[in-house]
Amino acid sequence: MKIVDLKLHVLKSPLAEPFAFSQGWVHQRSATLVEIITDEGISGWGEAFAQGLEPPEIGAAVIQHALKPLLLGADPLDIEVLWHTCYHRTRDYGRKGSVVAGISAVDMALWDIAGQARGVPVWKLLGGRFRDKVQPYATGFYRIQGQGEAQRLAEEALRHHDAGFSLMKVKLGFGVDDDIACMHAIGKAIQGKPIRLMIDTNHAYGRAEALRLGRALAEFDLLWYEEPVVPEDIAGYVEMRQHLTMPIAGGENEHTLFGYQQLLAAGGVDIAQPDIGSCGGITAARHIMALAQSMGVRVNPHVWGSAIAQAASLHVIAAVPVAHHSLFASQPVLEYDRSSHPFRQALVQHPLTLRDGWVDIPDRPGLGIEVNRDVIQQYDTLA
Ligand code: CA
Repeated sequence: MKIVDLKLHVLKSPLAEPFAFSQGWVHQRSATLVEIITDEGISGWGEAFAQGLEPPEIGAAVIQHALKPLLLGADPLDIEVLWHTCYHRTRDYGRKGSVVAGISAVDMALWDIAGQARGVPVWKLLGGRFRDKVQPYATGFYRIQGQGEAQRLAEEALRHHDAGFSLMKVKLGFGVDDDIACMHAIGKAIQGKPIRLMIDTNHAYGRAEALRLGRALAEFDLLWYEEPVVPEDIAGYVEMRQHLTMPIAGGENEHTLFGYQQLLAAGGVDIAQPDIGSCGGITAARHIMALAQSMGVRVNPHVWGSAIAQAASLHVIAAVPVAHHSLFASQPVLEYDRSSHPFRQALVQHPLTLRDGWVDIPDRPGLGIEVNRDVIQQYDTLA
C-alpha cells in the first residue's frame, strides 16, 4: 500500500456567543483535518489540535509544506518509522506546538488506515482494550462575562448533572477570589449529589496564587487540579504536588516522549494528560504511556477537538493500562466538552453518545468514524 495524497481541511465556524477561558475569548470553533489517501481505496482521517486561540491554518501549513513531501509514496503501515521521519526532519523548527500537532494529525490518520486495512479497531492494534466503556466528565463553566458569574455556573452544574454527568471540570483562572466564589456557589448547588469536581486554570497563575487557590479549595476533594502553572515551570508543578493535597494534572501543552520525559522525571504530575491531536498522535501517546507506566504516573488523555480527535482519544483511553492495579483501580475518564461545537455531533455518522452516563469504546475498524462530507464542505475554508 502507498500513500498517494494528503488532503487538508481547515474548518471554521463563528460562535453565536463568544466564551472565555483564562487565556482569552474564543470567537470561533476551528479544526485542522487531514485525509490521507492510499492507492488501495482506504483513506484515513486525522486532526491537529487547534488550541482555542490558535489559527487552524498553522497546523495545516505544517502538514502541507513540511510533512506531505515526506509521506507521499510511503507505506502507510510503517507508522513508527514515519513518526520518527516526521519528527527528525522537523526537529530544528519543531519539537513542540503546532509542528507536533501536524505530526499528530498525520499519525492519527495512519492508525485509522492501519485499522481499516486489518479490519480491526485502533485499540486492537494498540494491544487490546482494558475497558469497553469510559465515564465522561463534563468540561464547561466557560465565562460569558468574565467575572461575577458564580450563580450562572452553579446552574450550569445542575444542567450537566441533569444530562447524566457525575464528573465535572470547572474552568477557573479568572482571579483567585472570583474562582473561590464560583466554586462555593457550585459546591452549594450540587451539595448531596454524587458529583466529583476537577478544576482547570489553564495556567493562569504563578506559583503563589496557584497555591492559594489550591489551598482554598482543599475541602472540595477534587479529582484533580489541572494546569496550575505554565507548562514551562516544571519546578512549579513539583511545588504544587509537594504543598497541595489534590492530584496535580497537566500535559495538554506538552509534547512527545521527549517533553514528557522531563515533566515526568521531575515528578511534575500525578496525572499526565497528552492530547492525541497535539502530543504527537497515537504513536507518541503510546510512547508517553510506557514512560508514565514506568514511573507510576496515571495517563488520562485530554481532548477538545472535533469528533475525529474524540474518536482517537477513545481508542487510546481503551488501551491505557491502569498505573496502580487493584480491584477498584482508578480508571481514565473521557473529557466531554459541553460548549457549542458544530464539528462534533454533525461531522461523523456515529458521534459520541451517553448511555447511562457512560460512553462506549467504538469497535468499528480504524478510528471507527465515517465523516460527513457535506459538513466538511460547509465549513472548509480551503475548499
Ligand atoms: Ca485544560
